[in-house]
Amino acid sequence: MSIKHNAKTKKKTLPRVRPELCKGCSFCTEACPEGVLRMGKGRNAMGYFTAEVLHPQRCTGCRFCTLMCPEVAIELWQED
Ligand code: SF4
Ligand code: SF4
Repeated sequence: MSIKHNAKTKKKTLPRVRPELCKGCSFCTEACPEGVLRMGKGRNAMGYFTAEVLHPQRCTGCRFCTLMCPEVAIELWQED
């Protein structure tokens, strides 16, 4: 499977979910056009099922997930 790069910066982007902030709404998993994210089976301290990164190599850096998350629980990182 090929690794996708941000169309503007040409750098690889990687999403990270902060499970302690996630409230399990699944907005991010539905928004991601590449299927990078999924809802996990584990609960956080608040009792919510949390999103997790399933296919990081598919991320294009479109930021849809970060824009959709009402809890600001997703960070996008770029490789150096
Ligand atoms: S930045 Fe885009 S491709 Fe990457 S995980 Fe978020 S929604 Fe999916
Ligand atoms: S949009 Fe945010 S709060 Fe909702 S499941 Fe995704 S990471 Fe969790």
